[in-house]
Amino acid sequence: MFVEDLRSPKILEIARRITQEYKLCNHCLGRIFARIGHGMTNYDRGKIIREALSQEEVPIKDCELCNGMFSEENLMRYAKMIIEKTQEIEFYSFLIGSRFDSEVLMKEEEILNKAGSMYAESIKMEFNRELGKLVSKLTGKKGKVKRPDLTIIVDTRFDYLEIIIAPVYIYGRYKKLVRGIPQSKWLCPYCGGVGCEKCNYRGTLYETSVQELIGDVALELFKGEGHRLHAMGREDIDARMLGNGRPFVLEIIRPKRRSVDLKALEKKINARANGKIEVRLIKYATYDDVLRIKSYNPRKRYRAVVVFEKFVPEEDLIKALETLNGAEIKQWTPLRVLHRRGNLLRRRKIYEARLIEYKGHEAIIELYTDGGTYIKELVSGDMGRTTPNLSDLLGVQANVKELDVIEVDWRD
Ligand SMILES: [Zn+2]
Ligand SMILES: [Zn+2]
Repeated sequence: MFVEDLRSPKILEIARRITQEYKLCNHCLGRIFARIGHGMTNYDRGKIIREALSQEEVPIKDCELCNGMFSEENLMRYAKMIIEKTQEIEFYSFLIGSRFDSEVLMKEEEILNKAGSMYAESIKMEFNRELGKLVSKLTGKKGKVKRPDLTIIVDTRFDYLEIIIAPVYIYGRYKKLVRGIPQSKWLCPYCGGVGCEKCNYRGTLYETSVQELIGDVALELFKGEGHRLHAMGREDIDARMLGNGRPFVLEIIRPKRRSVDLKALEKKINARANGKIEVRLIKYATYDDVLRIKSYNPRKRYRAVVVFEKFVPEEDLIKALETLNGAEIKQWTPLRVLHRRGNLLRRRKIYEARLIEYKGHEAIIELYTDGGTYIKELVSGDMGRTTPNLSDLLGVQANVKELDVIEVDWRD
């Protein structure tokens, strides 16, 4: 549809009918025909129609639909509110949304019922766009529909702004160099995080976590309000994570800063962690990276210190490991996690199983397996819930004393 169509008898007839019944500003008149013509505003459309009908323009403040919402002063008032309210926030793109009084929306519907809504757009859409253009002009920030840094909801009923700050995501890898630290922050089950005697008034079950060691430092620099750690799988609390580290995406919630030097942050995290963990912050990421990291469970290489209840001859151990080398195992959910996970049978492949060091009652072995293999149970047998297993193959009960993940098979 072209501009000329605005002056077609059909359109002018609709416009004549509507303007006889309602006092509409040019914005609200033009908006009924928003899909006709390009490169112009609804105000321009309204103006063309008015002229074609030889009608006087209705002052914006007298418009019975928008009640002056689209006047320059009013839009400027909202733009200034937005600039004022976002002063402390670093952002590069934004999207404006709005809420209108139901009376306005009902009147809009009533008018469109009479005029037809074939060419129309909603009052919200025009308001969001016109205000967005103005804010963009005043601030130099970009209007953006997909994943803006800020979503600003203007509630025109109460002149209230709701500012939604998009999270910042950082992709990296962490190593956990000591045992006894969980990956994520565990709130104290007795007080739910408030702090009580049981948790030493910390609010958390453990003194710290990989998440807190990374996130708390990041929070300061990004001036955020919270953090989440999305990691590619997790090691047991008593296992270390060594080698090339485990991929993760750190999410900073409601950050007031978005462009922090990652090298400086990395240095700060590592200094503060004091040997507990070590991170490499590789790049800024998006929510897609969170989904990606959560949907893959790559192969991993483990090193385990295994203890035997009785002396095991070296040849027996080598033979047992050879049997596991290339084997497919069946694992029922381990007894130790059964209270929080469903009882499932999973099949996992052991790509490599080899002896690193032999000490009679103890040995160090290395295993390269599918992601999600329970290594402790592969060694112990877990009361027959994992088959085959090292204990059965040896005829001697074996248990993992220490476990390290030494490689996560994943390319950054
Ligand atoms: Zn109006
Ligand atoms: Zn507590």
